[in-house]
This record gives sequence, structure tokens and C-alpha cells, in this order.
Amino acid sequence: MALNLYNTLTRSVQEFVPLDSPKKKVGMYCCGPTVYDFAHIGNWRTFVFADLVRRTLEFSGYDVQHVMNITDVEDKIIKRVREQKTTLREFTGKFETAFLDDLKALGCREPHQKPRATEHIPEIIALIEKLVARGVAYKAADGSVYFSIEKYRSCGCGYGQLLKLNLDEMRAGERVASDEYEKESVADFALWKARVPDDGDVFWPSPFGEGRPGWHIECSAMSIKALGETFDLHLGGEDLKFPHHEDEIAQSEGATGKPFVKYWLHGAHLLVEGKKMSKSLGNFFTLRDLLAKGFTGREVRYLLLTAHYRETFNFTLDGLHGAKSALARIDECVGKLREIAGDKVGTPWPPSLLMKDFSFALADDLNISGAWASVFYWVRETNKLIANNNLPPEEAASRLSEWEYFDSVLGVGAKAEAEAPTEIQTLAEARTAAKKAKDFKRSDAIREELKAKGWIIDDTPKGIKLRKL
Ligand SMILES: [Zn+2]
Repeated sequence: MALNLYNTLTRSVQEFVPLDSPKKKVGMYCCGPTVYDFAHIGNWRTFVFADLVRRTLEFSGYDVQHVMNITDVEDKIIKRVREQKTTLREFTGKFETAFLDDLKALGCREPHQKPRATEHIPEIIALIEKLVARGVAYKAADGSVYFSIEKYRSCGCGYGQLLKLNLDEMRAGERVASDEYEKESVADFALWKARVPDDGDVFWPSPFGEGRPGWHIECSAMSIKALGETFDLHLGGEDLKFPHHEDEIAQSEGATGKPFVKYWLHGAHLLVEGKKMSKSLGNFFTLRDLLAKGFTGREVRYLLLTAHYRETFNFTLDGLHGAKSALARIDECVGKLREIAGDKVGTPWPPSLLMKDFSFALADDLNISGAWASVFYWVRETNKLIANNNLPPEEAASRLSEWEYFDSVLGVGAKAEAEAPTEIQTLAEARTAAKKAKDFKRSDAIREELKAKGWIIDDTPKGIKLRKL
């Protein structure tokens, strides 16, 4: 079945055909975090969206190479390193770790490669040298190296591929040194920023003088290194279309003379309680803020996955309560199926009509509402069969494998053993170890202890399962 996705480059829904179509290999780059603070829920919408794209591709049989960079040198980072009188690595390290922990808590598959900008300075310098050699970059009086939009355009290259820009209003010779700027100020942007006193210890030697890379060139250098000069998919939030992604295209195509990316996918904005997120409005949440309110990563993931990625989404705390009850319905149904299935193992083959509906919905530009509709229809039908005592263990097992089929894309899991408190899980692990060591006396004693604490341990072909008495 063809997978159709909206490509920002062509402004249309297109069939996804990767460059290495026969081998079904896909190179996918998603702009990663700028590690200067904890990521907020708007950032997380983008990363959960990227995870949905990756899971859908894998579900469709593609062999995905997922690359997500870590921006660990950039204007905002340098400012905070200076303010907090710390070192770059010490400062960025803690936010990088926090980011990866949060990514896991949200059920996102870990990217195969997570290149750090500071570990790619030679590649960045080489790319800038190429741009200088091709005449589309120049060193300005301030000692920094800039990308020349005028020169780039005069080579017949297109600036403004992702969104319409009024380039005629551009004044020749205008330059911008900062990493982020408005559409109205389309201008030559910095590739290499000459060292200034405010940079402190953050600088590297280069043929252009001491300095540091601009944000945009980091992504071009790392994506080309990881995935080649032309690759399949580039993702990010829509706020990155300009200038970041537009500049990535210009730098990469300006240096290689080849098309940079075949499909560009952008996730839409997120509002919180109907408004743009801001600290002063009290609607600014990191994932940690939500966990502290008693919500779980899977509830946040569920809520973020209820809206289509190209629609602005209104994230609310009420919505999170709704996510809690929706997941409880699924958990209850899956829990009952597990009880009935016992040790029977099901197979999702041949796929049911519902599974086909589910995959058709995803193939239609990730129509997630359609996919959820299949899941909740499945919950209703399963509950009816359970209520009527009309579900033999074999069928319960095959329904469980249907759930696993859905969940391989949705990634919300189902409450099960994880529900047992740590003390119980530790005991269960000790029993497994005792059994392995053939210390059956101890393993039986632990089983009894668990029972006394209200938990039953079942040995199944897939390992142990804990359930409440
Ligand atoms: Zn990027």
C-alpha cells in the first residue's frame, strides 16, 4: 500500500518513494533540541510527530535510519553559559540527558544517531570552505563568514523553496548575525561567527579565524555526514521552516549542487488552553511540569497523538484527563484479554479488516483520527465479546496480537506489569533469578511472599506476568 505524505517542498500530498526504493531504506533527519533548557510541550509535539513518522515507516516495512542532532552550541546557549558562569559541556550535558529521559518517558524510539554540533566542527568548517570556494559565501568586515543569498540566486538556485519570500524587497548587502530572524529580514546569514568577548571560552580555530558555527550550518553538516548529500526525509516544527530549514537547503545545495532533501514534513504549532504558550500566562509546560501534576508520559503522548500533525492543536489539562480515561478503557480491555488468553500466543495474520482500516488511515498522510477510530471500534467489539463470554483463549490471544499491531505505531503500551510497585517487581525479579539458579525452595518462598502481599506471578512463554489477587 502506498504511503502518502504532505511534502512542504511541493505543497502537496505525495506518494512516498524513497531514494533507495528497492531496498526500502529511508534516511530521516529531524532537527533535535537546542539544549539550553528543558523542552516544552510545544517542542514535544514535534518529537512525538517525528516518532509517529518513524514508526509508520517501520510499520510499513521500511528500514529507517533516524538521525536527530543535538544543538549544543548556539546563541541562546552561549548567553546562558555566560550568565551562569559555567562551561559549555557542563551546561548542555544536563539538558541533553534530561531531553533523552523525557523522550523515553514519551515512548519515542531512540534515534539511531544523535550527533552533537560541537563534535562536528571539522565537517562544518569543510562545508563552509566549499561554499566560499563556490563563491556563495564571503568573509565580512566583522570577521564572520556569511552566506550570500544574491550569489546563490544568481547561480540559478532557489531561495524560498519552503515558503514564499518577497526577495525583491531584500536590500543587497544586508546581513544578519543572529541564529533566529524574521521573514521580513531575509538577509545574508552567518555560517561562521567570529569570536567576540561575550563568547568566553566557546570558540574553535578555523581557516577564517577563531569563532563558532552558526546554527543553520550545523544541521547541514551533520545531516549530510549521517545520511549523504541527498536524503529522503527532513522533519521539524513549522516554526523552523524559515529561516532554519530554508537556510539548510541553501547551504547544502549551494555546497553540493545536488537536491538536499526529497520530502520535507512539518508539524503544526501547539496552543495551550487556547493560547500561545508563555511563562507570563501560566500556560507554559515542560514534560516535567506535567509529570509533577500526576500525569504520565503515555498520557501526554496519547493526547499529542490525537490531532493530525498539520493541524494546530489545543493542548489542555482537561484533554489530559480525557487521555487518562481513554487509556484506562484500552488498559481494561487489554488486561481482560490477557487473563482470558492465558499462555496462548496469537498471530495477527491474516490481518483483520480493522487492521487494514488502521493502516489505510495512516497511509493517508498519517490520518491519526482514523487510526484511533479503528482502535476504539476494536475496544467496543472486544468488550462485547468478553461481556457475552464469547471469547475462547485462542481468539483472545489473536485479539491481543491485533492490539500489538496497533500499538507498534501508537506506542502507548498497555498498563500491565509496570503497575506493580517497585517492591513487588524486585521480588518477582529475585524469584526469576532463584528459578534460573535452580533454587526452587527460594523461588517458591518468594511466590508465597508475593501472594501474601496480594500479587500472583504467572509464568508465560513471553516471561513472567504479575497480576493482583
Ligand atoms: Zn536543523
